[in-house]
Amino acid sequence: MSTETPLFSDLHLPEPVLKALVELGYETPSPIQAQCIPLLLDGKDVLGMAQTGTGKTAAFALPLLANIDLKLNKPQVLVLAPTRELAIQVAEAFQAYSRHLPNFHVLPIYGGQNYGLQFKSLKRGPQVVVGTPGRIMDHLSRGTLDLSGLRAMVLDEADEMLRMGFIEDVETIMAETPEERQTALFSATMPDQIKRITKRYMRQPTEIKIKAKTSTVENIEQKAWIVRGANKLDALTRMLETEEFDGVIIFARTKTATVELAEKLEARGYRSSALNGDMNQALRERTVSRLKSGSLDILVATDVAARGLDVERISLVVNYDIPTDTESYVHRIGRTGRAGRQGKAILFVAPRERRLLKAIERATRQPITMMDLPTRSEVTQKRIESFQTEVQKVLEAEKLEFYLELVGQLTNELEISQEDMTAALLYMAQKDKPFQLPEEPVRERFSDRDGRRERGDRAERGDRAPRERGDRRKPEGPLDTYRIEVGREHGVQVKNIVGAIANEGNMNSRFIGDIVLHNDYSTVQLPQNMPADLLKHFQKVYICQQQIRMQKVDEAGTYKPRRRSPKKRDHRKG
Ligand code: AMP
Repeated sequence: MSTETPLFSDLHLPEPVLKALVELGYETPSPIQAQCIPLLLDGKDVLGMAQTGTGKTAAFALPLLANIDLKLNKPQVLVLAPTRELAIQVAEAFQAYSRHLPNFHVLPIYGGQNYGLQFKSLKRGPQVVVGTPGRIMDHLSRGTLDLSGLRAMVLDEADEMLRMGFIEDVETIMAETPEERQTALFSATMPDQIKRITKRYMRQPTEIKIKAKTSTVENIEQKAWIVRGANKLDALTRMLETEEFDGVIIFARTKTATVELAEKLEARGYRSSALNGDMNQALRERTVSRLKSGSLDILVATDVAARGLDVERISLVVNYDIPTDTESYVHRIGRTGRAGRQGKAILFVAPRERRLLKAIERATRQPITMMDLPTRSEVTQKRIESFQTEVQKVLEAEKLEFYLELVGQLTNELEISQEDMTAALLYMAQKDKPFQLPEEPVRERFSDRDGRRERGDRAERGDRAPRERGDRRKPEGPLDTYRIEVGREHGVQVKNIVGAIANEGNMNSRFIGDIVLHNDYSTVQLPQNMPADLLKHFQKVYICQQQIRMQKVDEAGTYKPRRRSPKKRDHRKG
């Protein structure tokens, strides 16, 4: 991190917003925030080339909140997001930052949610609306969303909206907003169609790109783990159990997170402590000395608190939360590999943060190797090995005559073998920390809230956008085929179907199988045993102005058409 990093208090944000940031444990603005906030506060248009994980949500939410008229109960800010997950996440961020702003309301609006509820909430006049394009279009055409008082508009993850087939909807919505509104657009990449939007709808936007300085970190072995299938804390403890380490420093994003994580690790038997900017200098120094002397093994720190930390013992750095920029990554991992030693760094990356991972690799000019979570049996093996070591130590160091006699006596009295006796004692000895980890939970196929992330992953791997049959990966598990009443002649593309089904069904797109487009209908494969209420919902969904009236095709490949003339609508949902 550079020394010119401003403080949130330097950025002219309103007092109640600053108070919320302190409570949330944010220490300093991330680079994208430091650059965006002054511009947006000033009413300028901004074009942010930023990935998830850089803190882009706060970069637009904080200044836009500052400019809201709380006395006016009308939408003043509209954020468009590609998926319901992101819409909810952004709305939650607004909620968190506005907790000390009286009379402030934010409303997420997304496909799949009950209309009645949305009508009612819209009537209350939220100042900020965060929505997926299809649903926002829907409300605009019904006249239930009034954008006449709109002052600012944000397009979040614009390239993702393009990929999901929403870009025409986005343009239509933009065309319906007051011309003098302020616009911020965030996108990790700038394909031509997005550039065109910026030209047509933005007023001399300032482009913000966080430049990555390249730096090398040669004596540090770097690994990354994609966060999936286990929660981060469980994953971390598995790694700590199987990795050889001396001292460890774990980086978390907020002060609050450092304290929580240090406490949780302590509860799991690790000698750990937080290190953050809320601690005074003396306490921080004392904590670092304890790590040096070995009375502590793990420090959980924020970037600011760990600046310049130089402890030879640190052999492992864990980026529990991905850093917001590449410079702070290089700084963080530089806490290990001191004094010519070898160091190791592990980075936790949420699927949506993969682009940030790529940016880090480019900046360090070094590949980061993907790692798998240690398996249950590896953890078991480690636990058994360390138990063996303990047993050996005891046999070497302790006088055991009394116990040897006791073994003889107990096995005699209980009339059991020495093996039975040993097994029972082993069970008792490891009861609090069994050798075997509990079974992993099975993931649900329906109502997985991770939908878009998988699609993002595929795009980042450089695969083609899904188009026709066979382009998409086949999902695991048995599938049923469904017919939907929208086909080529309606202008539908596979991406429209994927986008609508993932959003409307709150489904992970990796559970969507082959999609075949015919002239006036299409078929789509979805996991077996779809809940009846979900199928009912899908029947009402519109894609490309067609109500899709989803119907299962039976094993013989036939279906019973429901004779109803298709209702015309002027758009589809998102
Ligand atoms: P985003 O890139 O907007 O998805 O943000 C990623 C995460 O960073 C979110 O969990 C935010 O709450 C968190 N965050 C954003 N800005 C800061 C900051 N300045 N300090 C600490 N955490 C932050």
